[in-house]
Amino acid sequence: MPFDNALDPVVDALNARLRHAAPQEILQAAFEAYPRQIAVVSSFGAESAVLLHMAAGIDPDIPVLFLDTGQHFGQTLDYRKQLAMRLGLTNVRDLRPAFADLALQDPKADLYKTDPDACCDIRKVQPLDRVLRPEFEAWVTGRKRFQALTRAALPVVERGEGDKVKFNPLANWTKADLDAYAEAHALPPHPLTAFGYPSIGCWPCTKAVDDGADERSGRWAGSEKTECGLHTPRHAPAEPSNVGDGI
Ligand code: SF4
Repeated sequence: MPFDNALDPVVDALNARLRHAAPQEILQAAFEAYPRQIAVVSSFGAESAVLLHMAAGIDPDIPVLFLDTGQHFGQTLDYRKQLAMRLGLTNVRDLRPAFADLALQDPKADLYKTDPDACCDIRKVQPLDRVLRPEFEAWVTGRKRFQALTRAALPVVERGEGDKVKFNPLANWTKADLDAYAEAHALPPHPLTAFGYPSIGCWPCTKAVDDGADERSGRWAGSEKTECGLHTPRHAPAEPSNVGDGI
């Protein structure tokens, strides 16, 4: 059974107030509710510029956490630098896997072939945990409901892993909303979007997709895996949420 946010008074109150609000209003409320205790987590992927532009407009010094897995496309690493500079973000942090984890579990950088969940764990989940757990009470994701069926029930505010409050300001937005915002603000696209990549993660686990396909269908294509584990509950609730993850 999915986690019932209605049983959480803090999350319930935030959701009641923000569930129909515009993304900028949700972000503003999030930053005000958790001053110096909130971070934006961004993949610097295909649609990341919209949320980052909104965040920079409210507080350019807001911590932005980028999971530098060591397996990104070179284009993503270039885009991360250029976009941060363009938006004036002054506090982007690159979170990397622990050297010991790589040496012990993935010395040839090919764990994704045999155990992608373990690979995501040491390259994404644990690096984020190490920073979020001690430093932040809340975080912001760029997930949208339209991206996949696994995200269709995504709330605007939820209680996440390690009891952190998670804000999803773009949950209600459509692809058309995102495109219109990006165009209105002349936001530079990730260079791979022009080559059929509507969702971009690590290079070994991302493929181009046909027009009109589920935009996350190129992620871990050909396997049962659909999410990287960042949003999979690791404490209560006991059973997995149905809102999926991936940044
Ligand atoms: S997306 Fe693929 S390469 Fe990246 S951490 Fe997960 S399994 Fe490893």
